[in-house]
Parts: sequence; C-alpha cells; structure tokens
Amino acid sequence: MQKSEHYVFMDALVRRIHEDDEEALLFQEEFYRLQAGLAGEMKLKTTLADYFFKSDYEILYNFECINLRGFTHQIDALLITPHFIIIFEVKQISGSLFYKPAVQEFYRVTDNGIEENFANPFDQVYRHQLFIEQFLQQSALKLPVLHIVVIANYRAKLDNGFESMPIIHLSSLPKFLESLYEHYPSTTVVPRQISELFKSIHQRLPARRQIEASRLKTGVFCHHCNVIGPMLFYRGFWHCEHCKTKSTDGIIDALQHYRILIGPHITNHAFRNFLGIKSRYAAIRLLSKLNVEAVGQGKSRYYVIPEDLLYGD
Ligand SMILES: [Zn+2]
Repeated sequence: MQKSEHYVFMDALVRRIHEDDEEALLFQEEFYRLQAGLAGEMKLKTTLADYFFKSDYEILYNFECINLRGFTHQIDALLITPHFIIIFEVKQISGSLFYKPAVQEFYRVTDNGIEENFANPFDQVYRHQLFIEQFLQQSALKLPVLHIVVIANYRAKLDNGFESMPIIHLSSLPKFLESLYEHYPSTTVVPRQISELFKSIHQRLPARRQIEASRLKTGVFCHHCNVIGPMLFYRGFWHCEHCKTKSTDGIIDALQHYRILIGPHITNHAFRNFLGIKSRYAAIRLLSKLNVEAVGQGKSRYYVIPEDLLYGD
C-alpha cells in the first residue's frame, strides 16, 4: 500500500525533531494516528482480497486528487463495479464510539473513560461522494455512488446513535457488499475504464506540514543500535560511539530525511551542517559518491537529492 506524502513526512519528522521541541509530542501523536490509519487500510485490503466479487471490479487505494475548485480529496479506497461505486473511509479507532445525529458530533470514550472528539467522518466521505458523482456526470457515466465508514478495530463498540448511519464493522463488509449487489442491478459500465479515468486525475498530495531546519536533529544515525546520536565521520566511514558499528550507508537515510523535510536541493554548506562533517573536501568526496546532480557553480552550487539516492564508488 502506497504511503501518502504526509505519512512519509511525519515518519521522517518524528525521527528528526529535537526531543525538547515544544511540538515533539504533538507530532508523535499525529504520527501514531497515521500509523493506525494505515493499519486500518491494510485490514480493509485483506478483507477485500478475501471477498468473492460477483462481477468485474477495480479497487483504488489511497486515491488523491485536486478538484476543479482547487480543493483536495484523499480517499482511503474506491471500489468500482458495474453495479455501483463505493467510497470507503476507514477508521481504526478503539474504545466506545458515539454519535449525536442532531449535532453530528462524533466522539469516543476510551477504556480509561477519556472522551475525545473526532471530525465527523460522514461529512468527509459525503463530500468525496459529491465529487465522484460530479466527475462521473462530466464523463457521461451513470452509476450509483455510495459511501461507507468502516471501523477496522474489531473491539471498538458502536453506540445506538449510529443507527441508520452508513457505518459498519470491517467484519460485516462481505455481507454489506452482498446486499449492495442485490439492491443495485448491473449496468454496462466497465470498471476498468472508470479506474483508468480516476488514475488520470490522481495526484500525490504534498505533506500538510512544513518544518524549519533548525528544529531538526542533524547527523547520521546508527542503524544497528538506533541510538539517536550522530555518528562521527572519519577515514571514509561513519562510526557509532555507542555500539562501535562503522558504516557507509547511513548517509542515505540522513539525506532522504533532508529531502523529505527540507527539500531536494542541498548546498555543500548545508550538507556538512546536516551530516556533521567539518571538512569541505570530505563533503565533496562524499558527494561525488552519491548520484546527486550538481547545479550551478561556485558559491551558488547546489546538489539535487533524487528519490532513489544511491551511494557507491
Ligand atoms: Zn550504534
């Protein structure tokens, strides 16, 4: 399952943010939620892979795009059949979940009795539905578009307030799909054609956060002991003071963190700062072993860090 740009950003951020940063805990909590979300989407994928579909079908996971008004859509999963299209919003939330239909308030009470409000998932997913309906209309395609909120945590309890709301436990998904197949007759629509249309407007959305370089820990981290302390560079290797491991490839992770959190362009100066290298010449030697492209001359020279960064002689 492809991780969103935001997920990748937050993953790097929680590894790099200074422990004493005033938002460090907030970032960590946000990343835990993203991890839970991804775990929920994986469970949905497994459940759908096990289901015996009654027609051709296509599934798009983590579908992202920008609509004509410039607003974004991030859809956990989109199932396309000749009978219907259904949009899945997956929630991996534990505890008891409550809903007050009158005020459309969605909240949970944890096992420890802590009450916490969540954004109402029905509004989010209905907004996606309207967009998909309009998109199909523009393409002169007629197919019912539905949505469902899926609770992926089997121990979560749903309160009576959810009655008549489009929400189910993941375990009842097969039964739910059976009922849809019964209710919506087949059309001549070819799922493959629609999924190709969606793929043509798919667009990876950028991370929803930014961070100043000064708030990040610098240095190359040790893979072996995972101690968050920079390794020292000498005689062509990175040395871990803690477990005495020496390595050459930790530089890849560090520069990927730089690319993800700061951006793909790095000067020799920033390179030395971020990796903790004193010598300008050692930096130039290291840069020559990386598949980075040099742009410009002299002081304005910078290097472009590619996604598939490699290190070698
Ligand atoms: Zn180590």
